[in-house]
Amino acid sequence: AAMSSGDLEKLQVLGHGNGGTVYKVRHKRTDDVYALKVVHGDSDPTLRRQVFREMEILRRTDSPHVVRCHGIFEKPSGDIAILLEYMNLGTLDSLLKSSHGTFSEPKLADVARQVLNGLNYLHGHKIIHRDLKPSNLLVNDKMEVKIADFGVSKIMCRTLDACNSYVGTCAYMSPERFDPDTYGGNYNGYAGDIWSLGLTLLELYLGHFPFLPPGQRPDWATLMCAICFGEPPSLPESASEVFRSFIQCCLQKESGQRWTVAQLLTHPFIRTTDPR
Ligand code: ATP
Ligand code: MG
Repeated sequence: AAMSSGDLEKLQVLGHGNGGTVYKVRHKRTDDVYALKVVHGDSDPTLRRQVFREMEILRRTDSPHVVRCHGIFEKPSGDIAILLEYMNLGTLDSLLKSSHGTFSEPKLADVARQVLNGLNYLHGHKIIHRDLKPSNLLVNDKMEVKIADFGVSKIMCRTLDACNSYVGTCAYMSPERFDPDTYGGNYNGYAGDIWSLGLTLLELYLGHFPFLPPGQRPDWATLMCAICFGEPPSLPESASEVFRSFIQCCLQKESGQRWTVAQLLTHPFIRTTDPR
C-alpha cells in the first residue's frame, strides 16, 4: 500500500547535512524503521537542485550496495522528504571517530569490495558519485556498507560537460578535477570516484585524512597544492604488500593510469577475502 508522510513518526535526529535534516522515523502501522531526509521548501536553489538530483538517482538505483529509497514525499509547501533504508551503525566516518577506532586490513578489504560493487553498479548505469568519502558511506549491523548522498552526483549523457565543475568535498577530489590538462589525459569522470575510494580506505586505515597530519584543520590552498603537486599519499611500510598495491592502483595522479572498478574487483586485495 502506498505510504504517506502522515504514517511516519519522527523518533530522533540522525544528522544535519548542508542538505537538510535526517530523522530516524517509525512507520506507525508496520513498526518498520527508516531514515527520512527532509529539505525545506524555502531552502536555497542550489540545495533544492541537489535534492532533485539525489531523488532522480535514487529512483533509478537498485543495488544492495547503494542506500535504498522507499519513497519520496513532496508537500504543497515545497518541503521534500526522501524515505531511505535505515542504516543503524551510521557512517564510516562516525565509526572511525567512535570507540571502533581504525580498521584492520581484512575489514578494509570487505569495505573496499562492497563499495566497489556499489560503484560497479553506478558506473555501469553511467552515474558518477563525485563525493565519495567516509561520511557518505553508511553501515548497518550486518556490516553491510552502502553508498549514500547523491547530492552532487552526475548522470553521464552524451557529453562530459560539467564534469570538471567544483562540486563535492574538495578534499577528496582527484588531481584531474583541479587540473584536467595535466592529470586528465583522457579525462573520464569515473576515475575520480576511484581516487576518492583510495583516499577513503587510506583514511580508515590511518585514522586521519591522508593529506593532513592528525588533527590539523584543512587549509584549502595548501591542500590543493598537496593534491596537485605532491606525491599521492600511500600506506606505511607496516601495511601488507597487497594492500599497498591496491591503494597505489587507486591513487595514481594521472587519471588514465588509475585502475577501473572492473580491474580493481580482480585485484588480489579484494579477491583474498570471503566474497559477500
Ligand atoms: P553532508 O553534507 O554532511 O554530506 P548531507 O546533507 O548530504 O550531509 P547525508 O549525507 O545524506 O546529508 O546525511 C546526513 C547525515 O545523516 C549522515 O552523515 C548520517 O549521519 C545520517 N544519515 C543519512 N542517511 C542515513 C540513513 N539512511 N541511515 C542512517 N543515518 C543516515
Ligand atoms: Mg553526506
